[in-house]
Amino acid sequence: MKIKDKIIKALLEKYREIYLLGRINALLSWDLNVNLPPKASEGRASQSAYLTKLIAEKWLDSEFRNLLEKAIIKQKSLKTEERAIVRNLNWAGKYYLNVPKKVIIDFAQTSSRAFMVWQKAKTDDKFKDFLPHLKKLISLNREIAEHLGYKDNPYDALLDLYEPGLTSKICKGIFDKLQPELTRVLARIQKSENYKDSSELTEEKNYPIEVQKQLSIFVLKRMGYDFGAGRMDISSHPFTDTLDRWDVRITNRYKLSDFRESLMVAMHEGGHALYELGVDGIYAGTPLDGGVSLGIHESQSRFWENQVGRSESFLKFMTPVFQAFYPSELSKIDSEGIFRLFNQVKPSLIRTEADEVTYNLHIMLRFELEEVMINGRVMADDLPEIWRQKMKKYLEIVPETDREGVLQDVHWSHGPMGYFPTYTLGNLYAAQFTARMKKEINIADFCEKGELGVILSWLRANIHRYGSLYWPDELAQKATGEALNPRYFLEYIKEKYSKIYEVSL
Ligand code: MG
Repeated sequence: MKIKDKIIKALLEKYREIYLLGRINALLSWDLNVNLPPKASEGRASQSAYLTKLIAEKWLDSEFRNLLEKAIIKQKSLKTEERAIVRNLNWAGKYYLNVPKKVIIDFAQTSSRAFMVWQKAKTDDKFKDFLPHLKKLISLNREIAEHLGYKDNPYDALLDLYEPGLTSKICKGIFDKLQPELTRVLARIQKSENYKDSSELTEEKNYPIEVQKQLSIFVLKRMGYDFGAGRMDISSHPFTDTLDRWDVRITNRYKLSDFRESLMVAMHEGGHALYELGVDGIYAGTPLDGGVSLGIHESQSRFWENQVGRSESFLKFMTPVFQAFYPSELSKIDSEGIFRLFNQVKPSLIRTEADEVTYNLHIMLRFELEEVMINGRVMADDLPEIWRQKMKKYLEIVPETDREGVLQDVHWSHGPMGYFPTYTLGNLYAAQFTARMKKEINIADFCEKGELGVILSWLRANIHRYGSLYWPDELAQKATGEALNPRYFLEYIKEKYSKIYEVSL
């Protein structure tokens, strides 16, 4: 990337330190989640806190701020890439600049304590133990929103931290379109003759972990994931971590009784990693490096997991592979059976176990709760009860415990509120990108042959290479010719599941 502007050049030089410290912190966090001996957790927390402090100081450095302010003033006269650099720095730095250091530290300390309490409260199924911490986190989130500023709704300030430009009004518009349709589709599926709510194929079977791992590696290599620039380890919550331009690692988890989960996790995290690895090399170490937002990032993971991984054509390709890997367990099932097995619809209490039809209803519930909590229209004390009411309303099932209800997700204990809606954005963007890709490539044909390279090339050319050059709405416009439109997701769901359940949706 050729940068001519002197101010931008100086900014990039300063930013490089923030970038490097961020990558070192990523290594600490990867190690914490994958390798850390339990007795080292306290020491690691202080090492990480020290790095975080250094990073915050770099953002607040007066020379850096002066340069950025000068760049903002002349923004209009800058070239596309230079302008994007200024926009990204301004967006990423606003948290450090607007929120008082005292609040940032209080938030970090409260959430690390809350996380410990949440883990135990979840195991013991005692919401009351977590409640005071949750209350404090809600009030801190509100305080942060006030410092960040907003037009209509304090929740918007938080949404924008994870997806630039996202507002509660936009979210509400999306869910208003999705929810009635998804509820209707779900009811039709449940009434269909083919509806089963058990999965006999995975019960009491044994799928050795080493074999599952080899299967994941087989598929990741087909997807184009470069093991020379990454690796796959084990962690309890799977994640992708960017340690460097050429070091993007993923993790997986294995369930002995079910071979599907680790494969879907590998494809999901592999999708995140391919995005990071596909950014144009000229952006390395600059604010244009890396995926542009959580929503677009999630579209890349969902694309590989659902649009490819759970598709009829890809599973047709995979059926003999599954049978070779698990000869005694899967020899009797044909590709149609495998397709159904990977796409069973069933309302579940747990978000992470939800199928494609019901998943976004779980997100809608969390969005609605966060919005009322941040606006003080609901007391945290009442959350378990409201959770049950909403589960009944949207999914017609009610959790008996808070462990399977309000305590199930790690997110609130970590602090962030406003993060969940990006999961739904990911699902919607993935369907929209697929619809567009289909006009240029016969995706099903390539999936059936297990040749995924052409698909990756399309993603690289239209999405990955830009990194954070375009904001999510610009990127969608450029890649698909229109802004985010939930229509594509609904069409995809209806087409796919009417085939599986042989009902008209
Ligand atoms: Mg993800």
